Amino acid sequence: MLRLAKKIFSTGIQTEILPMPQHEIEHLGRALQVEIANKFSRALAIRMVDAGSCNACELEIHAVNNPYYNLERYGIHFVASPRHADLLLVTGPVTKNMQEALLRTYDATPDPKLVVAVGDCAKCGGVFQGSYAIVGPVNEVIPVNVVVSGCPPTPVAIMQGIFAALQCVS
Ligand code: SF4
Repeated sequence: MLRLAKKIFSTGIQTEILPMPQHEIEHLGRALQVEIANKFSRALAIRMVDAGSCNACELEIHAVNNPYYNLERYGIHFVASPRHADLLLVTGPVTKNMQEALLRTYDATPDPKLVVAVGDCAKCGGVFQGSYAIVGPVNEVIPVNVVVSGCPPTPVAIMQGIFAALQCVS
């Protein structure tokens, strides 16, 4: 708990720290738009799954739709059901009580599906490593295409992760 509190106070507001100039973010967004137009008939549907995170990764995912990034303008939208999704964005280590839900969500997502594991917890357990309550990182429960590192990752890193996942589609 103390470890987590220390982390919260030492991490700045990721959303407002632009890791690259605005025009480069725009360039990345346009590249995403082209990939989506070519491979997903102009719209990519994302279902977000919190498998046991502290919620900071979710805040950065929400931030991709704020006025700084505005991901929707590139043809990306978030959906409420995995049955309507092309890609799952999964955060957190997988907790024991979310394992079944994550498996069911994966199974309910139509093929071909992509999975992006977002954050250090999703990658390796992060600050929750060794906890009695977790099963492990996301790839121990479902197949993962791309991992986005960071605690939490910035919105730009999340955009880059989505772009990398699109490269897995031929
Ligand atoms: S990676 Fe960091 S921000 Fe994301 S869920 Fe884990 S502790 Fe929270």
